[in-house]
Amino acid sequence: MIMALVRATLARSHLPSACRLPTLFFRRQMSETPQLTASISRLRQSGLLKTQGLIGGKWVDAYDGKTIEVQNPATGELIASVPCMGKTEAADAISSAYSTFSSWSKLTANDRSKRLRKWYDLLLSHKDDLALLITLEQGKPLKEALTEVIYGANFIEFFAEEAKRIYGDIIPPTLNDRRLLVFKQPVGVVGAITPWNFPLAMITRKVGPALASGCTLVIKPSELTPLTALAAAELALQAGIPPGALNVVLGNASEIGDALLESTQVRKLTFTGSTAVGKKLMSGSANTVKKVSLELGGNAPCIVFDDADIDVAVKGTLAAKFRNSGQTCVCANRILVQEGIYEKFADAFSKAVQNLQVGNGLEDGVAQGPLINEAAIEKVERLIKDATSKGANVMFGGKRHSLGMTFYEPTVIGNVNNEMLLCREEVFGPVAPLLRFKTEEEAIHMANDTNAGLAAYIFTQSMPRSWRVSEALEYGLVGVNEGSISTEVAPFGGVKQSGLGREGSKYGIDEYLEVKYVCFGNIKEL
Ligand code: ADP
Repeated sequence: MIMALVRATLARSHLPSACRLPTLFFRRQMSETPQLTASISRLRQSGLLKTQGLIGGKWVDAYDGKTIEVQNPATGELIASVPCMGKTEAADAISSAYSTFSSWSKLTANDRSKRLRKWYDLLLSHKDDLALLITLEQGKPLKEALTEVIYGANFIEFFAEEAKRIYGDIIPPTLNDRRLLVFKQPVGVVGAITPWNFPLAMITRKVGPALASGCTLVIKPSELTPLTALAAAELALQAGIPPGALNVVLGNASEIGDALLESTQVRKLTFTGSTAVGKKLMSGSANTVKKVSLELGGNAPCIVFDDADIDVAVKGTLAAKFRNSGQTCVCANRILVQEGIYEKFADAFSKAVQNLQVGNGLEDGVAQGPLINEAAIEKVERLIKDATSKGANVMFGGKRHSLGMTFYEPTVIGNVNNEMLLCREEVFGPVAPLLRFKTEEEAIHMANDTNAGLAAYIFTQSMPRSWRVSEALEYGLVGVNEGSISTEVAPFGGVKQSGLGREGSKYGIDEYLEVKYVCFGNIKEL
């Protein structure tokens, strides 16, 4: 009975995304642990525990005083309450971003670059506090959270540099008395909606190129993990990003989303999250014909060929599958193993999975934290039940972890086929389904047999095969003999229903720029 109540309490995403009532039975039964008290006091001292939205450079509550509780998924404890804002606050944030656009976009690229660089320095000098915040509100192990802070900060550094390299063109004219120029200009106000799995990096990946190109923003972070976003915004203010250039509103997702969609002042929407919400936002953008970038769900195949180096394949697959408890859109969703290496790989991989220590991310040695909420764990259970009812077998794990809460055992499932729900849906959990294949052609067919097209991985020691297969995969990112490939210097994004546009790299800044052609005519010849 108590576990049922706990589960109901933690099922945050079962509730509508409007502000939730503070009926948290489980949390109220617990007193704050000394670990949380110490963490909160440390964050308060560093000035990074911000619990209000940011509009026009001012920290503000929801106008009607409503709040949302932010919980630690590892313990169920309340970390903080943040405002539950809606359309009015969103409208003010949009106005503020709109009025700041004219001044921010007119600064020299060098000036914008210096402020972004300062922000990068501040993110790095506060990396331990930011990592602590990420682990507290998101659950990933502290070491992984620190990696996210560095990865996230790198986008700001990269785009601080890129700000100075937004070049136009001069086109050879078709008539002698003309000169044809191409300008690149900032799009304008950007609405950025981000998910909970990378509370910092999904924000910096959007804000970096937007600010670098001269755009201003209204950010709506996930209500599950808003504290990291607010802390990053505080550091942006300290770095000299002017009030109004970067606004943060949070609360009622659909109200805020609608305000962004309906506004003619918002010229671009950038979103990372589920395919279902992405489709809604794409169709909602049609009315005002906004530029749209979408980074949506994946269904990553990880193909291990007979000629793979088994150690490299096990290590790479482990990284591609279990990072962030399997909760990333580039996580391996289907592990396709060629029949000649299947048994050997399955054995070595299961042994490696057995060594993953599950626990509270603040504890030493933990490699896998909790899932984000009860809905996530129920999805994993549903998909495993479907697979085992159709003939798959659990090789390791396959149930909730004895730690309770939303901890789930790292799991390996054998004899999976591409028709099982485990392979049709994005698992977003620590479950590695193994599928057998015979030929390279079959593997490519299986890999591409999905509407998603974000990341794919292949393990082979054959150079010709790695070229052939990389080219045949209908995916935006391909890792060859490597399971961890994201970096700020390379383009990240999907094909098919995994999204539109690219983030990071020189390509990422184009998403925030308009191309303007200017024709100078009647230039008299000498
Ligand atoms: P996930 O299932 O990974 O949480 P979602 O797509 O639901 O992914 O959430 C990603 C982001 O989209 C979050 O910030 C969430 O609040 C926001 N969101 C969810 N529904 C809407 C909506 N109708 N309009 C705008 N934003 C939304």
